[in-house]
Amino acid sequence: MDKITIIVPCYNEQEVIDMFYPAVQEHLSKIPDCKFNYIFVNDGSRDATLEKLRAISAAHDDVTYLSLSRNFGKESAMMAGIDYADGDAVIIMDADLQHPPETVAEMVKWWREGYDDVCGKRVDRAGETWLKRTCANIFYAVMKKFSTSYEMQRDVGDFRLLDRRCIEALKLMRENQRFTKGLFTWVGYHKKEIPFEVRPRAAGTTTWNFLALFNLAMKGMTSFTTAPLRLMTFLGITVSCGAMLYMLFVLAMALLYGDPVAGYPTLLTVMLFLGGTQLLALGIIGEYLGQIFHESKHRPIYLIDEIDGERMIYVPHRVPTERNTHPR
Ligand code: UDP
Ligand code: MG
Repeated sequence: MDKITIIVPCYNEQEVIDMFYPAVQEHLSKIPDCKFNYIFVNDGSRDATLEKLRAISAAHDDVTYLSLSRNFGKESAMMAGIDYADGDAVIIMDADLQHPPETVAEMVKWWREGYDDVCGKRVDRAGETWLKRTCANIFYAVMKKFSTSYEMQRDVGDFRLLDRRCIEALKLMRENQRFTKGLFTWVGYHKKEIPFEVRPRAAGTTTWNFLALFNLAMKGMTSFTTAPLRLMTFLGITVSCGAMLYMLFVLAMALLYGDPVAGYPTLLTVMLFLGGTQLLALGIIGEYLGQIFHESKHRPIYLIDEIDGERMIYVPHRVPTERNTHPR
């Protein structure tokens, strides 16, 4: 009998959370030889999500909930779930039922055939705006160009089944600035992409906005490749060489012909161009510096306030699998 843990990060999901368990369980109970348990991670919701989770976990033996001490973001919430999962595999699903539970059976099938990471691949981005789609295209194109050692999977999100091997590998990566999508790719192992259609949210509203996505993209870029820094070096070299040639040209013109050209427009354009490039380069360096700043503090990825009604206190320097928290 296989045991699979379903991890569900929840942030302000009071409208949908009651629907989740019955809707998913209906499909999972049909999968033979497999026992499922659920870990709901309450990511510092400000609504009644936690109360609802308490009720759900009280009503069902196979449901556990972790409640984080504040909103840490989906990436950290997923990690909390992964740390506490005890199954032979985990499946990460959104609370809003956008990830169709009927796909799980297929995921389990491929896992049993030996794949370690069975990921759901979105077949349509229909529900998304033109802007979001275009930005996603640019992001994937840039990442593909820059990251030479491994390729970022396209249109693949967090909806996936991960074997214990992947889970243990992910647990080794305790970085604070988490870009889980990249981490999944970094881990490697045998991946299988299976198509699924993203449903509209069952209820409630999405917490993602353009700024959040931009931030995520920047995080992805800076935590997985230093290529932008290299690019700036090339730009610097190119501009310097260009400037050198132009200088020679101007000098020659002045010496040979005593060229009396007024330099104002040229000077201004060159100065603005150089100023812009320098600011851009500084910005890029700043992004990386920010990453170093955050990582150097070695803060925990999340803090747990409560597990199944027990108030928790964080004990540092223990391996998370041995429960780095204990009842107060
Ligand atoms: N989520 C979370 N913490 C956050 C934001 C979102 O745990 O800070 C959860 C949310 O409850 C949902 C999942 O992450 O289960 C996906 O969020 P959402 O549906 O808002 O994003 P979208 O599906 O629009 O990308
Ligand atoms: Mg959603």
